[in-house]
Amino acid sequence: MSSACSIRVRGVVQGVGFRPFVFRLARANTLAGWVLNGEEGVEIFLEGADQGLKAFVQALRTEPPSAAQITNIDVTASTPLGCNDFTIRESKRNERPSVRISPDLPVCEDCLRELFDPDNKRYFYPYINCTNCGPRYTVILGLPYDRSNTTMKSWPLDEYCAAEYSDPGNRRFHAQPVACPKCGPDYHLEAGDKVVRGNERSVRSVVEMLRAGKILAVKGLGGYHLACNARNGDAVQALRNRKYRKEKPFALMAKNLAVARELVCVSAETEALLTSAGRPIVIAPAKMKLLGVAPDNHELGVMLPYTPLHHLLFAAGAPDTLVMTSANRSSEPIAFDDVEARHRLSGIADAFLIGERPIARRVDDSIARAGVFGPTVLRRARGYAPSAVAVFPSKRPILAVGADLKNTITLVVHGQAFVSQHIGDLEHFQSFQAFRQTIEDLVSMYEVRWDEMLVVHDCHPQSASAALAATLLSPETRSVQHHRAHLASVLAERSEWKKRVVGVSFDGTGYGDDGTIWGGEVFVGSLSGGFERVAHLRRALLAGGDAAAHHPVQAAAGFLAQLDGLPDVTSAPFAFPSRYQSAMELVRRGVRTFTTSSMGRLFDAAAALLGFTRETSFEGQAAMWLEQLARSSRYAEPYPFPFTGGELDFRPLLTNLAHDRLRGRHPSECARAFQRGIAQGLLTAVTALCRANKIDTIVLSGGVFQNELLLEDIKTVVDSTPFQVWTNHAVPANDGGVSLGQAALASFGRFDSVAAVSSTETISL
Ligand code: ZN
Ligand code: FE
Repeated sequence: MSSACSIRVRGVVQGVGFRPFVFRLARANTLAGWVLNGEEGVEIFLEGADQGLKAFVQALRTEPPSAAQITNIDVTASTPLGCNDFTIRESKRNERPSVRISPDLPVCEDCLRELFDPDNKRYFYPYINCTNCGPRYTVILGLPYDRSNTTMKSWPLDEYCAAEYSDPGNRRFHAQPVACPKCGPDYHLEAGDKVVRGNERSVRSVVEMLRAGKILAVKGLGGYHLACNARNGDAVQALRNRKYRKEKPFALMAKNLAVARELVCVSAETEALLTSAGRPIVIAPAKMKLLGVAPDNHELGVMLPYTPLHHLLFAAGAPDTLVMTSANRSSEPIAFDDVEARHRLSGIADAFLIGERPIARRVDDSIARAGVFGPTVLRRARGYAPSAVAVFPSKRPILAVGADLKNTITLVVHGQAFVSQHIGDLEHFQSFQAFRQTIEDLVSMYEVRWDEMLVVHDCHPQSASAALAATLLSPETRSVQHHRAHLASVLAERSEWKKRVVGVSFDGTGYGDDGTIWGGEVFVGSLSGGFERVAHLRRALLAGGDAAAHHPVQAAAGFLAQLDGLPDVTSAPFAFPSRYQSAMELVRRGVRTFTTSSMGRLFDAAAALLGFTRETSFEGQAAMWLEQLARSSRYAEPYPFPFTGGELDFRPLLTNLAHDRLRGRHPSECARAFQRGIAQGLLTAVTALCRANKIDTIVLSGGVFQNELLLEDIKTVVDSTPFQVWTNHAVPANDGGVSLGQAALASFGRFDSVAAVSSTETISL
């Protein structure tokens, strides 16, 4: 007695070995029928014995290919057609592909075994891959995902690879980037005038150079890395000097999990992230000091090898811990083109390990941590992008162009929200180009028509992203306020469209409804109903606008101006430089100042009082420094941070901090008391708002909430209340999450108007 059924599988199911898996599974259960890649996922038709069908569906649910991410399996009964065997059919091509482009995948165990098997044809071949592993987004030039639409199109398959590629039972069946040493691309080493050819010879030369303390530029999946021995302080310092990167922590690559355990505390959650398919850089508490790797930091960022080349380097004897940092100068975007890399990295790298396979687009390493509220992505790029992070109820195509800093874009197609890789700060020419390119890429790959598209951007009248949005060919262009977008990103991740929450949006800078600089805002509302601002940090003046973000003492002036009985901060122990007095002069006269409620700048002011009086060398540095300082203190009574009349008053916080410091209390204790004060005061305010509005859920978003210690202190407070806290997980809490939030609010027609540029408001000093 024969039955039949149709199955539709949705999610990340293409380019991850799904069809060969289905093929083998069908054969194993003696089922006939076919499988194909449809427009919305994988479509399967099966006929055969009931028992076989049942076993098939069971295995489909419980043991899919490791890289697949199934969001939905639809099984419907059907009429047997009398098929004789099981086949893999050609891809169906309808109007629009809403299938997801797979992110890049780490090399799999099967390929690793072959890589180190001297009898295997692909022994020591850095471009080995199969349908379960290898490059995807970084080689895809267009859809459908076929070899002719990848950067492998210039390497025709030889007989050996072609046979595997066309054998449905082989794990390289339709593996688009498949290659072998005979037909595929190779790596070579360029050191000055010397060129070393051959994969094995060049890898072995690189290993010698790394052991000798040299700095290597190594081509990876989404760009070049600069690599050196992390245990060689001189090499690390040389890299800092040449890269003009003074203090920002370097990422590490550990040979394996055992080495990672020597470097950092690896909890079960951290291990899960380290070994996840995204293979992100994972931030965890440091167990050892590595000279120059992460100055002033109690944490290290570690990742495991993810390409065959990384495994070859370690197997060939490279130092077991390498600095692996994005190849660029200072804060420029990562280099990914060979010519560009040679040009931009000359003077930094002693030699270049160059692979011939072109990189389709720049994709940085992702960064994640096992946070106190659950695993969180801090930078979402390689291994994650551009997969969908949410399913929207609205089907209208939406393009959200994000924020100007830490930019990402979000494209909503058929209700699926695809978030791009981290693009960076749009003030850099190359990042701005990448921003434009990413918009073009995603819109064309998903074949969205511009005449149907709703484009959303930030409210800042002078933002680069908004300016570009205005030039796009969509019939409708609207704006969404920055801090509402932050909150919306948390709710969109969870598909909580109607849930009413009290939302806290704390960050450095975003344009407010009133044209002032917001950054310490509290809202009540929902995604579908919109967010109403109900409270904010007490306002201060910011002298000199954006420049204040690089000079904590400059940011401090406007906050300190409001304190009674402030000690003289220009003398010991504070010793603020003269920039402070110039800023204070502007504040007092109300010249060249902006009104702000930015929590990020309040952290800067506190950091300045605690000794961070120099210029910052990267964004968010002072706040990070303060967090690390606070970490060395176990406990400290929180400073008061009262909430009255819709305002969180920072004055008692800073007054106590200044006087404690003057009295000689240890800065780390002061820092902890400040952070605990923020946590305690914030929760007091927010739980009162929850009670008043009959709300049980608090949402936290914005860059300030990447401060893990602050989150720990918040959790301690909130655990003794009946309220729950939601934070970001799939997209960053910083501005990298803004595009998702913009898209979510736009899908409910929740727009904000573009604010007029405000002149200085009068603030009582
Ligand atoms: Zn593989
Ligand atoms: Fe922000």
